[in-house]
Amino acid sequence: MTRLIVVSNRVVLNSEAKSSAGGLAVAVKAAVRKIPTLWFGWSGKLSEGVAGEVDVTRSGNLTRAVLDLPADLFEQYYAGFSNRSLWPLFHYRIDLTEFDCSGYEGYLKVNELFARNLAPLLRDGDEIWVHDYQLIPLARFLRQLGVKNPIGFFLHIPFPERETLTTLPLHEEIVRALSIYDLVGFQTDADLRAFHGYIEEEAAGAIQEDGSVTAFGRSFRTGTFPISVDTSAIEKGSEKAKSSSPCLRLAESIGDRKLIIGVDRLDYTKGLAQRFASFERFLTDYPEERRKTVFLQIAPPSRSDVPEYRQIRAELDGLAGDINGRFAEFDCAPVRYIKKQFAQETLFGFYRQSAVGLVTPLRDGMNLVAKEFIASQDPDDPGVLVLSRFAGAAHELSAALIVNPYDAAGVSKAIHKALSLPLAERRARHAELMEVLRTDDIHAWRENFLAALSAAARTDAAPRSVHGSRASLLSLSRVS
Ligand code: UDP
Repeated sequence: MTRLIVVSNRVVLNSEAKSSAGGLAVAVKAAVRKIPTLWFGWSGKLSEGVAGEVDVTRSGNLTRAVLDLPADLFEQYYAGFSNRSLWPLFHYRIDLTEFDCSGYEGYLKVNELFARNLAPLLRDGDEIWVHDYQLIPLARFLRQLGVKNPIGFFLHIPFPERETLTTLPLHEEIVRALSIYDLVGFQTDADLRAFHGYIEEEAAGAIQEDGSVTAFGRSFRTGTFPISVDTSAIEKGSEKAKSSSPCLRLAESIGDRKLIIGVDRLDYTKGLAQRFASFERFLTDYPEERRKTVFLQIAPPSRSDVPEYRQIRAELDGLAGDINGRFAEFDCAPVRYIKKQFAQETLFGFYRQSAVGLVTPLRDGMNLVAKEFIASQDPDDPGVLVLSRFAGAAHELSAALIVNPYDAAGVSKAIHKALSLPLAERRARHAELMEVLRTDDIHAWRENFLAALSAAARTDAAPRSVHGSRASLLSLSRVS
């Protein structure tokens, strides 16, 4: 049986299994449960001077191989180039992007270090699946070391339009590094189109009639693979969580008011300041709702070593305080703002109790919380998802109430509509959304990506000639 090699910046250790507030970690854990997998990446620990030894541990089907990283390199690679240049730029935040790319050297060195430590662990027949923007140059270093295995890359975050991407002086190096992979996967067709746009207009490359991409003297494939959740596990988990102690306490504290919930890493891409403003607008526009609703925002802090994250944190503290100062009564406050991480099972129970899920990022690769919220609902009495058009999830979840997160009046109206929808319409919308999530769950995501990667590898001797939507990649894998 083929062994899967998953490479991501951070490996979630067994001891941390219950508490990872990040879509990538959650998805990778769920995706690899069923096949023999080696998961390679950073241990979460820093070393002084040189990198540590690779530490390998096995638990069932999953072997983890982790590496401590030198503190100075890590700073350049992670807080530097990854999170101060690539992350803001790929989320269309040119205003926050660091353009001198001072961390780029460290970024390359960590990728090289990953390659050097991973290569000796590889066997013939392994398929390598590299995840996300921190590891774009990894294939280049692996190939330089003579690794011949198929290597696929999946970008969890958006891919920006050419006009935005080209503001980064290093744009060509980044796309050239992607061209080394056998397959490059994106979350949505819009991301794929943006990539193709760059290839054709900026790199003088071509998207062939049969769909393959040629650029930088290479031919490789691309496709759309929207990441998803373990739908049936969440359905069962949310039902069970209902009677857990935190869910019972939440229900008791809410009483007969309606719960509006938001769950996001504390990140400027999540549109939390705009969301707070929209909720304030809702309390202003619909005064009769003030005593009838509670807004619970859970926002575990992340990347506190990046200054922009400290700023957004301070800003939100002020906004939450302002709204409560303005609208709270001696016996109730409209906003509960919690900067703490919760176990996923608890969140599923919280979603199930909520009348409205507010998922309003300014830009998001996918947003798994949107999908988890839907999968957690009681089909007989489901809550309603209010979803930003700029989340990747909006491409699939069109039966949600789709909003523009910058438009406070529009979001306020959508919250009101969500609270007022008749039961029959709530059920119909939920059923439509569940159909999407049952077909395209996390297992389908893994299977579709790996089928496409195998297809790319099988046609390796001939020009790699097929790319495209999941459907066309799958049909290729069936005929070849
Ligand atoms: N999450 C969690 N505990 C929390 C907050 C979030 O387990 O307190 C999980 C959440 O269930 C989801 C993931 O973290 O699976 C966040 O993924 P998403 O795609 O929404 O956003 P990202 O953080 O990857 O940008």
